[in-house]
Amino acid sequence: MALYVQKYGGTSVGSVERIQAVAEKVKGFRQQGHDVVVVVSAMSGETNRLIALAQDMQTQPDPREMDALVSTGEQVTIALLCMALKKIGVDARSYTGAQVRVLTDKYHTKARIQDIETERVRTDLDQGRVVVVAGFQGVDTDGNITTLGRGGSDTTGVALAAALKADECQIYTDVDGVYTTDPRVVEGARRLEKITFEEMLEMASLGSKVLQIRAVEFAGKYKVPLRVLSSFKDGPGTLITIEDDEAVEKPVISGIAFNRDEAKLTVMGVPDIPGVASRILGPISRANIEVDMIVQNIAADHTTDFTFTVHRNDYDKAQGVLQQVVKELGARESVGNNKIAKVSIVGVGMRSHAGVASKMFDALAAENINIQMISTSEIKVSVVIAEKYLELAVRALHSAFDLDASDTVSE
Ligand code: ASP
Ligand code: MG
Repeated sequence: MALYVQKYGGTSVGSVERIQAVAEKVKGFRQQGHDVVVVVSAMSGETNRLIALAQDMQTQPDPREMDALVSTGEQVTIALLCMALKKIGVDARSYTGAQVRVLTDKYHTKARIQDIETERVRTDLDQGRVVVVAGFQGVDTDGNITTLGRGGSDTTGVALAAALKADECQIYTDVDGVYTTDPRVVEGARRLEKITFEEMLEMASLGSKVLQIRAVEFAGKYKVPLRVLSSFKDGPGTLITIEDDEAVEKPVISGIAFNRDEAKLTVMGVPDIPGVASRILGPISRANIEVDMIVQNIAADHTTDFTFTVHRNDYDKAQGVLQQVVKELGARESVGNNKIAKVSIVGVGMRSHAGVASKMFDALAAENINIQMISTSEIKVSVVIAEKYLELAVRALHSAFDLDASDTVSE
């Protein structure tokens, strides 16, 4: 007998019929003797609808009232799910974040969980009930309703699983797991049996949208085994867990992630003197622009070209900032390109394998794809390339690292 925290996302509770299907699923787990705590999102589209209503009322909606409003989406689904459960003979009780007491800080619309009281949940579980908790919401020490940011129900699920020391946190969604890459780009992409928290974090930060990044961080920190599964199709999903030292044959690369939302800026002919990087990036960060990759190299004439990438939405703003920077530094000029994309290979196996980066570069060279920037971490190599080669690059890398479905014997 295990204790599962199961989170069902918006599409999984998107209609009366789907909520009934979730109830049946939960009943199945109860019949096997497991304890179940369910966390639900709002019905799909509901949170967007509420946000639009708020914006009709006030261009910059009051954050406290915004939270009071958007938290209602989840309150609807907890009650409906409990009704569906009771109808099929499963005792259940719904709780809002405030009722459980999911205590958060005071940052409306992006609050962070500080503590979760588990007494009420435990008491219900002991009495044989299923407990259904509203995701995405909490309460601050003054009793104000808070919300955790878009996609925050994942974090509620993980945090509850950590607080209850659940055996597993299961995230039910509309895909049946985490894939080696986006199946819309590579037909042979396949579901991963297992992936580490670190890898999942890289994949999520690089654009794989299966899980909220904060939820993965939380799960990693508290070592909550996390499983992504489909609520529509049976199957084992993907287990996200700590690195397993026993696995003898670890894949070098677990997945290929990519991101189209980048733009590149270069300040050319910068004097090669101390303080230059901070004089370029200082004004950028003061303009609230986040920088991703940075490359600098020195030329024979003792000047340097300084290149960095930003989110594509910040491209124009960053160009404006750099015009001023060029003047102040006595640099030659600044140039930019927003038709770029970032492609990354991710895998904990690269820690113990040499030559992973060069294999990546070989595969790209074989397709005649020019690499504009490179950055590496312990478990990731990222390159910036022209956006028009993105699909080609992802496919080439997927097969170069033997990730295609037909390449494997297992699964
Ligand atoms: N309903 C919220 C949202 O759409 C929270 C969630 O679904 O995780 O962001
Ligand atoms: Mg979601």
